[in-house]
Amino acid sequence: MADYRKLWESLDMDLEKHDQLCAVLPEFYGDIYLSQENRPEGMNYYNFVVSEIHGFRIQELAEHRKKGGKVFGSFCIYVPDELIVAAGAIGVGLCGGSDFWIPDGEKVLPRNICPLIKASVGAKISGTCPYFQSADILVGETTCDGKKKAWEILGKYTPIHVMDLPQMKRGKDKIHWIDELKIFKDLVEKMTGNEITEEKLKEAVKLINEKRRVLQRLYNTRKSEVLPISGKDALLITQIAFYDDPKRFIEKTSELCEELEDRIKKGISVFEENTPRILVTGTPMAIPNWKLHHIIETSGGAVVCEETCTGIRYFERLVKEAESIEEQMEAIADRYLSINCACFTPNDGRIEDIIRLYKEYKADGVVYYNLPFCHTYAVEYNKVKEALDNEGIPVIMIESDYSLQDVGQIKTRLEAFFEMIKTSK
Ligand code: SF4
Ligand code: SF4
Repeated sequence: MADYRKLWESLDMDLEKHDQLCAVLPEFYGDIYLSQENRPEGMNYYNFVVSEIHGFRIQELAEHRKKGGKVFGSFCIYVPDELIVAAGAIGVGLCGGSDFWIPDGEKVLPRNICPLIKASVGAKISGTCPYFQSADILVGETTCDGKKKAWEILGKYTPIHVMDLPQMKRGKDKIHWIDELKIFKDLVEKMTGNEITEEKLKEAVKLINEKRRVLQRLYNTRKSEVLPISGKDALLITQIAFYDDPKRFIEKTSELCEELEDRIKKGISVFEENTPRILVTGTPMAIPNWKLHHIIETSGGAVVCEETCTGIRYFERLVKEAESIEEQMEAIADRYLSINCACFTPNDGRIEDIIRLYKEYKADGVVYYNLPFCHTYAVEYNKVKEALDNEGIPVIMIESDYSLQDVGQIKTRLEAFFEMIKTSK
């Protein structure tokens, strides 16, 4: 890591504080990830990415910027990668998933707000996240109230553009969203100095769809009775997809999928037979938030799918490839508006997704994950639970932040939940 100090310095980072952050990650990652038995060989690439999390990719971003390229940092899966890529820019997902950034976030935000927001703001103002420091502009959105007010605070430290995302899915909302996409397209063109032509947009749509397809292929392996990969590893791969180079990510993940498909043919599973299969649904898990998956998979369960933004919602639906720029912009609007986030009302599509995914992934139970103070997902639990009860699907709600204080308590609750599933199987 020492090799990168000059680079970090050039990004105006707080190096002393950053050293503290870097000091804890290897042990944390080792305990959670490297302790797993029988991991696929292909996970070595993602181990490498994590070991170089503030190095290799940051170097690539710096080289891109040196040549005049721009970097866009975003916080939500409604921000369209296609427009960023079509203008020759790089997009990186910035959601903060570490407890380390919470105290800095709390210096400028109320304590009783979602940890994802506090950590994201804390990451920027502490000057310890090189991704934030490498972004030429941040792109926020009007999703939940906490985020949309936090952009006003972040705006004091860095340029930020806010996309006005509608919260309903009527015809007039789609018209409004297309308009927002056009404003964003103009901004990207202006910042990069590159025109988004029909050709360039088509190429970008193809590339991002290909990234989605490889993630779909990965998730398809988790539908098998033979589970060739842990839920923890699958989560890590999706988290890395948010900031890795798309072409390299597609190549490496395709190689891993070949290995996983071969494991299925040979009957190689990373879990014992009859391990309860769990669908996780709820709020996003930004890297390095691996807490819930780790607890589930060390308490007798196996995560087979995530109905979250760091799971299925990120890649399940493709953008329809179209001819003209106008048609392509509409297809992009349609695809992004088909994401079922609890910020929308009504949001019955999410309930349909959860039940469909439960069946597709042959799950035995649902763990509903909620970050504290995320009101939209917390309130939506009522309707989800009612629908799952009607289907006879077992569900448990776990509300938890990034701290490790409640691990024992969650473990006890989950062990009882898995026992109940096993006896009723
Ligand atoms: S939960 Fe909603 S607001 Fe949060 S990242 Fe996902 S889509 Fe965006
Ligand atoms: S988890 Fe909920 S409260 Fe937190 S940023 Fe996402 S939508 Fe907002």
